[in-house]
Amino acid sequence: MHVKELRCSRCGRRFLLDEKPLTCPSGDLGRLDIVYDYDAISRSISRDALSSRPFNMWRYMEFLPVPSSDYVVSLGEGGTPLLKAKRLGERLGLRNLYLKDETRNPTGSFKDRAMSVSVSMAVYFGFKRAVIASSGNAAASLAAYGARAGIEVYAFVPDFAGYGKIAQLLYYGAKVFKVRWVESEDPTVKMMRILYEKHGFYPSPSFGVFNPYQVEGPKTISMEVSEQLGWTVPSQVFVPTGAASLLTGVFNGFRDLNMVGWVDGYPRLVAVQPEGNHPFVRAWMERADPLRIKPWEKPPETIATGLEDTYPWDGDAGLRALYKTDGYGVVVSDRDIVEAMRMLAGLEGVFAEPSGAAGLAGLVKAVENGEVDRDEVVVVLVTGHGLKDPDIVRKTAPEPPLINPDVEEFKKAAREAYGVSL
Ligand SMILES: *Cc1c(COP(=O)(O)O)cnc(C)c1O
Ligand SMILES: [Zn+2]
Repeated sequence: MHVKELRCSRCGRRFLLDEKPLTCPSGDLGRLDIVYDYDAISRSISRDALSSRPFNMWRYMEFLPVPSSDYVVSLGEGGTPLLKAKRLGERLGLRNLYLKDETRNPTGSFKDRAMSVSVSMAVYFGFKRAVIASSGNAAASLAAYGARAGIEVYAFVPDFAGYGKIAQLLYYGAKVFKVRWVESEDPTVKMMRILYEKHGFYPSPSFGVFNPYQVEGPKTISMEVSEQLGWTVPSQVFVPTGAASLLTGVFNGFRDLNMVGWVDGYPRLVAVQPEGNHPFVRAWMERADPLRIKPWEKPPETIATGLEDTYPWDGDAGLRALYKTDGYGVVVSDRDIVEAMRMLAGLEGVFAEPSGAAGLAGLVKAVENGEVDRDEVVVVLVTGHGLKDPDIVRKTAPEPPLINPDVEEFKKAAREAYGVSL
């Protein structure tokens, strides 16, 4: 048991885990940041002792808030490969480029790390019903872990959620509701808060303000990356950013490793957001006070539907992470994102949805801007699978030619569709 206490990020009020805290009762929308006992962690686990454990995220159990393995609800999340990207690296002029392939998680996105922790805590706390607001991936993930734990899941998603995610939700047995965007406040968050505040459902979105436990899951990405690089830290890590919970988790992972002395120092963290919704990167550009980030004024407009949070709920911690690591923000267009999807799939065999490829789009921009040297160790997080959003593929790639089984027809089609003459 390595959690010392939880402390509200806005008013500083403190809680013990036994109180089952979820949100700050003062209503200040602070996040209950988990404070660990690093001495206790150091006494119970060492770097060397890890090697006998399976390579999934629970090998770092001591750094997670779940009090005992009895409560763990797992589908084998984490333990994803860190792929050395040789061809892509050559294209960009980088010698040490790596892809952390989070598309390999059980439901196809890194959100599984978060929801595995969240549902484990729901089991520990004894909840039977959970609710989520999500653009799709976190909901699909919660639904899968909820199914495994026998917890009923209510999911509110925007009407533009990718069909792959909806398909998952339907089969994992969640009660799914598409909510129309009629006012400026995110309508899915509004519905989630009603079920949590008025009906006592377990709130399990992927932002820490409403559930402080799940944000701990993604920090295992940093732990794995460090371990996969022989317990060193990379020079830069590119993070697609919506609510900035992933960014916060990635920072917390490196923080924890520094606290127990397993690594020394931090990578520069780079937050990537789409042009059509970048409240977090805008706040970074304005050197904003982390507690005063302004929400995006308009409905979000981007194909990266996983990055459509108009208010970065964990932006305070995310912004501090950028300031602390000498990190920076990058804005990318939808065209940059589609180009990054093509490069990831076509040069490295990694098929990502738009949000999943946004990190690479950000790296391309950063290279153009002279932010990256050719020998730096660069890690790009590829966060979600390409099959999540089949409509985007249909909109951005041509239909394959339909031919009769005839060699002349084949040659003609090969020329017309692919420009090859055989
Ligand atoms: C949720 C999500 C993100 C962004 O994570 P945040 O914590 O909202 O910043 C990035 N990529 C994919 C595929 C996602 O589903
Ligand atoms: Zn508070």
